[in-house]
Amino acid sequence: MDKTQPTNINVTLVDLNNFAHYPTLSMGLLARYIRDFGFNLKVISPLSNGIKSRKREKVETIIDYYKTRLIFSQLKSIRRLITIAESIPLIKERFLNKGKLYKAVISAIKPDTDLVLISTYNENYSICKKISEYLHKKGIPVIIGGPAFNDLKQVDQFLDITGVSYVIGSEIDNYLGQMLFDFFQEKDITSYPGVYTKGVKKTPNSYIFKELDQLPVPDFTDFAWDKYPNKIIPYMTGRGCSWGKCNFCSDVVLVNGRSYRSQTKEKILSDLKALSKQIDTHIIAFTDLKLNSNIQVWNALIDGLPKIIENPIWFCSVHVDDRNKNGLDFETLKKAKEAGLTRMSFGLETASQRLLDDMKKGTTVAKLDAFVNAAYKAGISLRATMFIGYRGETAQDLKETYEFLLKNQHCFERIKACRFQMYDMTPILDELTPQEREQMFARQINHLYATKDYIKYKKGILKVVNKINSKRLNEAARAFDGVM
Ligand code: SF4
Repeated sequence: MDKTQPTNINVTLVDLNNFAHYPTLSMGLLARYIRDFGFNLKVISPLSNGIKSRKREKVETIIDYYKTRLIFSQLKSIRRLITIAESIPLIKERFLNKGKLYKAVISAIKPDTDLVLISTYNENYSICKKISEYLHKKGIPVIIGGPAFNDLKQVDQFLDITGVSYVIGSEIDNYLGQMLFDFFQEKDITSYPGVYTKGVKKTPNSYIFKELDQLPVPDFTDFAWDKYPNKIIPYMTGRGCSWGKCNFCSDVVLVNGRSYRSQTKEKILSDLKALSKQIDTHIIAFTDLKLNSNIQVWNALIDGLPKIIENPIWFCSVHVDDRNKNGLDFETLKKAKEAGLTRMSFGLETASQRLLDDMKKGTTVAKLDAFVNAAYKAGISLRATMFIGYRGETAQDLKETYEFLLKNQHCFERIKACRFQMYDMTPILDELTPQEREQMFARQINHLYATKDYIKYKKGILKVVNKINSKRLNEAARAFDGVM
């Protein structure tokens, strides 16, 4: 077949993400770039192949409370058991439905495919390996990409897989089509930013795509919209986070999170109007790390969404930062609620000011308190993430968090409480003291100073969280039930 014409080339794009209740935004953009360059594109998504997404959050029962107690236990025997269970790929893969996903993917790849592109995170390593090895036997090359491949350790791990031609850790927005075409002309594509192959010296990729207003409207036409519980448009107004300093944050060290850039408000509203038409829906999930990064955009959404979409319903994540005008005061939230903001997520992390400062969270407990109450008064369903087990955490820190939650429990609809974990490339890893390093295992600091009071307040926090998570979501926010 003549490969000098993109129209003669069959590219298959594989989406391995079966967590979300909506397509991955990057898939929609990749589909747009590949199609616009003229290639024949097939998209394989888990849901189109009968694999349902898992609920991220559910209404909890008392059994969930006891399960959480186990997960948060400091007892060495229990920690050892959990670590062993987590390290057995079979258990993990069964839980994540990976075996079924692998079969679905390979049976959907047609023999006349010229190239398979897989966008993935490290957690899908074993399924990528199986798919690539299978395709290698069929003579179909594979290129793997994803936001975590600015970590060269991960690049090496994936490049070692038989059948993988290249690994890409870069924002490919202004060169994907041409780069794929060059690949078919057998040109060296490692000259493009963040493109790696075996045997070629690797250097970290510092390229950042800044011209966000050039982004096209994503193409979500390949996704099985009729199979999602609700038609939710994923959309990102900007990449990165305007704060970007939290020492534990793994999002702002990834390829597309490394510096904050925003699209203009005009472009955003025009895209959302087009997407609402493309998918025929009024529900939007803003996937920005911090939607209130750019206050102009935040205000423009509140003013503009109801003018371009009838009865919009939207969800977003915010950061309760310390600016005088962070867009999260009661008046603004009330307007946002009227403009369709039904559910909001934010990182509470802790209500200990000492720990918030240590994390460089850029906020105060007073600000957090005012925000949760303003959101409640405005009638917005509120979700928070938090963690227990941060470095140097004491019983007093937990007591302050416990008291904050007890006082404000009516303001929350869900809290996702996790054991604190440290991820690759995050600043906190460089800040650890030798003693903390010694206490570290499985990405966690295993506190050896779990005093009677520490345990008492930890249990108290888990109990309040369980009580909050036992409620049903308020009616208006149910479009996002199980999503976030
Ligand atoms: S505010 Fe959120 S997204 Fe921004 S750096 Fe902190 S944790 Fe990361």
